Amino acid sequence: MAAELQSTTISGSTQVALDRILSIDPHNINMTFLQNMFAGHMDKETGTMIEPNFKPTAKIQLTPSTYKFVKQPTETTLGLLILNRYLLEMNDIIQHIGYQNNPIDNKGLDKLNTEVNNLVLEDKITVDQLVAYVDARDRLGFWCSGFLAVSITPALLLPMDNVLKRKAQLFKEHDADLHSDNPVKQVMANNAIEKELMDMVRENLKNDSGYDFYRSGDGNLNNNYKNINVMRGAIFDNGLKKYHIMQSSLMEGIKPKDITPQANSVVAAAYPSAIGTAEAGYMSKQMIALLQSEAIDLDPNSDCGTQSTIPITVTDSNKQFLIFRNIKEGNKIKETTLHNINEYVGKTINLYSPQCCLHNKICAKCAGKLFYLLGDDKVSNVGMLMSVITKKILDLKLKSKHDLSQKAGFMDANKTFLHPNKFVEVTEDGHLKTNQFLKLYIPKYADDITAYYIEATTMTCLGINKARFEDGHGNVILDTIMTVPTMVDLNIIGDMQENMDEYILSYEPGSLICSLAFQQNIANVCQYLDLVFMNSKLPLIPYNLIPDMTFRNLDLNKISIDGPSIIYEFMARRLCRHERDTFAKVYGTDPNVNLMSYTKLGYRQAVQQAGATQAMLFEDISAGINVNLANTLNGVESIETPMEKIIRA
Ligand SMILES: [Zn+2]
Repeated sequence: MAAELQSTTISGSTQVALDRILSIDPHNINMTFLQNMFAGHMDKETGTMIEPNFKPTAKIQLTPSTYKFVKQPTETTLGLLILNRYLLEMNDIIQHIGYQNNPIDNKGLDKLNTEVNNLVLEDKITVDQLVAYVDARDRLGFWCSGFLAVSITPALLLPMDNVLKRKAQLFKEHDADLHSDNPVKQVMANNAIEKELMDMVRENLKNDSGYDFYRSGDGNLNNNYKNINVMRGAIFDNGLKKYHIMQSSLMEGIKPKDITPQANSVVAAAYPSAIGTAEAGYMSKQMIALLQSEAIDLDPNSDCGTQSTIPITVTDSNKQFLIFRNIKEGNKIKETTLHNINEYVGKTINLYSPQCCLHNKICAKCAGKLFYLLGDDKVSNVGMLMSVITKKILDLKLKSKHDLSQKAGFMDANKTFLHPNKFVEVTEDGHLKTNQFLKLYIPKYADDITAYYIEATTMTCLGINKARFEDGHGNVILDTIMTVPTMVDLNIIGDMQENMDEYILSYEPGSLICSLAFQQNIANVCQYLDLVFMNSKLPLIPYNLIPDMTFRNLDLNKISIDGPSIIYEFMARRLCRHERDTFAKVYGTDPNVNLMSYTKLGYRQAVQQAGATQAMLFEDISAGINVNLANTLNGVESIETPMEKIIRA
């Protein structure tokens, strides 16, 4: 490595640039300075192109004696040095994270942002420094994009001959799968073809400057370019419940047989996004109405004394949402941190949680340190922060209009029931089959939501349902829960029964329950949140497993909605009740209590019961007043919320 560094020769002109960047006070770096260094321009008088003085990608070497923030001789570039000086040195951040020498593409920038954010949580820099960093970052980007960012090049405008030729071959090879009756087979074949073709496109483009925009991760080549120049691909037909695979690209033109699906796809993209905006906005309103009364004890040493915890499996995708929390290890309490959370990936932790807290204001042991790090106002108004996840849902729904790619996945058969058992198996084509008599109980939800679609032979619903395996004589051999936290199509065999609260589906040994293949999308996540949290009026999931099941739903759909786990725990605490109080106090006192013995409120009832002002501010004026008059007569006090404080002030 050292020898390699030695051999790097730096041209005289690059040395001049290096000296200039090292000698300037970073506060004096501005657009003029950068233009003088890196911008080419057209000389109007002579009509000739004047090349820039230096290239930001020019290689340089830094040593601890030339730049004190590198620890050893470091090969880097002029551009990265500017970035380090202007973003990190100027804002006194560099001494904490050192010289950053990775390409600042989409991922690299994300990583850097996370590192700087974490410094705030660790109390190493102030929020003001973070703000200054964000401003400097955005200024630098805007200053430079005018003369450094490449726009579209001719290579990106037209379909490529070798790609089109290979496309025709691949469609022949995969013909059977593309026309299969199994939509997952279809979409997997489609995605395999798209991947191979897009790899060819990338190979063709690798030396083209127009590709920079996509290479950085800023533009999505697999979406825009693919649809326009390679192939339109899979379009879901909700009527046939399978895909139409459109071989043509938009540049090649739409074939007559593609006209209907193409038109459907326009609607399928625009409709959920338009409706999604309203839905996500409404969900945000629901969550604020619901959670605004939640507060954390201001005392960072408070401890309600509970010994109960909830189990959560830490994964690569949820670990960031489980930091600065307290977990139980034997008799000890340990804190998860930015540094130790990786040790828990793949393991199940026992988390102290608002779902266990015995106090009205969540104690510090159950809440963890995160909100204390964010400041007192966050501690007392914690419920108001919860719209962070609905904001992300809104973004994802809006984005779904622009990204038309289709994804599908398979559910792991071993996780289909709460108790692993030998009564079910998975067939070769991905269906779940029972070997015993089985009854599934599908809860009826509130009337004002569409929770399931019942057709002649299938019922589309959430795959979380009470399940009972029986022997041939009607004796129960296992009472459990089907745990497929996403929308599934359950087969209806024979007549469907029902009681007051549930539909009952019966299966004989050897019959197929459902396909374990499903579409991965944000709609699945929203349905889950809507049903499990907001609208169900019956306990669906064992109390302590609600957050874990939520993360499993997100994982199955390959979607992150960027909400700390505690949001889901707050919702569970708020909506799972025992008499007039939260079930958390029952579970917090005795973790061995029957985990399905809570009563589940829909969010609307929960808001009505919380207090007259809350209900009125939401939209349930008359119900709010009635419920609260009754509460007052019964001597039940309502909780004051931040919103009420503002109104009364
Ligand atoms: Zn507590």
